[in-house]
Amino acid sequence: MAHGTIGKAAIDKIEMATRLVAFDTTSRNSNLALIEFVRDYLDGYGVSSELVFDASSAKANLYATIGDPDRSGIMLSGHTDVVPVDDQDWHTDPFTLVAHDDRLYGRGSADMKGFIATVLSLVPVLVERKLREPIHLSFSYDEEIGCVGVRTLINVLKDRPNKPRLCIVGEPTDMQVGVGHKGKHTLRCHVHGHEVHSSLIHQGVNAIEAAAELIAKLKEIARRKRDHGPFDPDFQPPYSSVHTGLIQGGTALNIVPRDCTFDFEVRPLPGDDVSAVVTELREFAATRILPEMHAVRPETSILIEELSAAPGLDTPADHEVTQLAATLSGSNGTMKVPFGTEGGLFAAAGIPAVICGPGSIDQAHKPDEFVALDQLARCEAFLRRLIDRVSQS
Ligand SMILES: [Zn+2]
Repeated sequence: MAHGTIGKAAIDKIEMATRLVAFDTTSRNSNLALIEFVRDYLDGYGVSSELVFDASSAKANLYATIGDPDRSGIMLSGHTDVVPVDDQDWHTDPFTLVAHDDRLYGRGSADMKGFIATVLSLVPVLVERKLREPIHLSFSYDEEIGCVGVRTLINVLKDRPNKPRLCIVGEPTDMQVGVGHKGKHTLRCHVHGHEVHSSLIHQGVNAIEAAAELIAKLKEIARRKRDHGPFDPDFQPPYSSVHTGLIQGGTALNIVPRDCTFDFEVRPLPGDDVSAVVTELREFAATRILPEMHAVRPETSILIEELSAAPGLDTPADHEVTQLAATLSGSNGTMKVPFGTEGGLFAAAGIPAVICGPGSIDQAHKPDEFVALDQLARCEAFLRRLIDRVSQS
């Protein structure tokens, strides 16, 4: 297993983080330069990588197994893309990792190249050990735009008999163990009305007004969730949220608007039913809005389409993966995290997951993002305990 390691200078986690941060993997860009760097690095230790590309071949997930490839093992998962730095007031170059006051500043330092770097820095240790079960590495693309990229990898993995049996997602939790998060569903509603001169409103169908009534219905549903639940006090807010965030419609005040489109999202508590929200909106449209529209012009319509759906995560406290992460992190107690992760998708594909990684979500996505050196040290200790645990003594 020590193939290729002789005479190689190890790259420590800070040097590795410096290299990873230097790749501008903002989600709109290709991540291939970073992925090829990681592939070559792993190759240097005799670890082969599987790349699963997107449709354009400009982005890829990297999946690699250290240890017996026929066994299922434990997966360490991270995303390689980062959020944009546009219009953010940085005090340093975001793509140059800068050490200052026991912190490392740079885009992705906390979310989540610090984690990936720490994992990669331990590859020389992993390949030296005789592992009882393998460690899998999963590094994805396009997580920040709705957990999009990892889906192609999950499609490849989900029917394999040797797919990972557990997953640790290294999103920043200050090395606390996250066992749950809400889901996130984004939807778009198109209202197609009928355009006329605004002096003749009786001959037109006003798309903006119909959209406004649908949005008001969504607000009514949102208030009901807020006031009557279901509730989970571990989340902030402790109920499923519904909100409209974008609207477009109309051309001029003296024209009855023909089209109006609005986007809304539902962030359900784990187990809460998103489809009930959509069904209620459709029924409201069919019984209260469309009849009046059709009475004027039968070809008018209301269309609701799903743009994206990412499931929530709800891993039991007594599950093996929760217990494992708690033991490795030395933390007692678990938390629910206020952000979505790929963990929900892994869990839905039969790979139970928890969230545990260095740095804080308070710094993620912001200017002057940083990870504390102490957090990377705790992450390294966590991973070394994991390696000890899966090694033959
Ligand atoms: Zn992240």
